[in-house]
Formats: sequence, C-alpha cells, structure tokens
Amino acid sequence: MQIWQCEVCGYVHYGEEAPEKCPKCGAPKDKFVLLNDNQAHLIESSRITNEIHMEVFGLLEQVAALCEEGSEINLDPGCVKIFDELLDVCNEKQQEIMAEIAGHVKKGKWN
Ligand SMILES: [Zn+2]
Repeated sequence: MQIWQCEVCGYVHYGEEAPEKCPKCGAPKDKFVLLNDNQAHLIESSRITNEIHMEVFGLLEQVAALCEEGSEINLDPGCVKIFDELLDVCNEKQQEIMAEIAGHVKKGKWN
C-alpha cells in the first residue's frame, strides 16, 4: 500500500495513485507526494496509536462509570476507597490522552 500526502494541508491518501484532487483542501493531484517507507511507517504508527488512545479513552469512561456506581452503593470504606481512587486515575489518564492527541494533531501525527 502506498501512502500519498497533500503538501498543502497534510491530508493522507492510501492507494496506488494520488487522488485527482485533495478531498480536504481541493489541491490538485500534483500537490501530493509519495511518502518513503520511514514516513509511511510513522504515519501508520501514529494512526494506530491514535486509535488505541481513543479505545482506551472509551474503556476508561466505562471504568469511571462503574466506579461512580460502586462508590454510590457505599458498601464499606474499603470499597469506596478503591472506587474513588480508580475514578481519579481514570479522569487523570483521560486528560493525559486528550493532551497527547492534541499534541499529535499539532505535529501532524493525526491522519
Ligand atoms: Zn490538501
């Protein structure tokens, strides 16, 4: 699989040939450059990593909801402590994921 990138806006296209025009910015075909193996690997690694971040983010959301539910039941202090601490970790890691993804977007690692 070849990876082409629009030099104008950074849009990435997977295929044998560059598209006739960039779907994102409308730049013509000749504005697309074929990425070399290293560049293609970086783009692909970034895409997969971003997908994993999004999936983990969703799982943390589920864990956080369970922790809130468990904490509300308030069976005993030991249970509440675990749920509350885990809820804090979930929130903290979700913030870190958002910051990390925002950083990727800025560095053009989101495609
Ligand atoms: Zn473009």
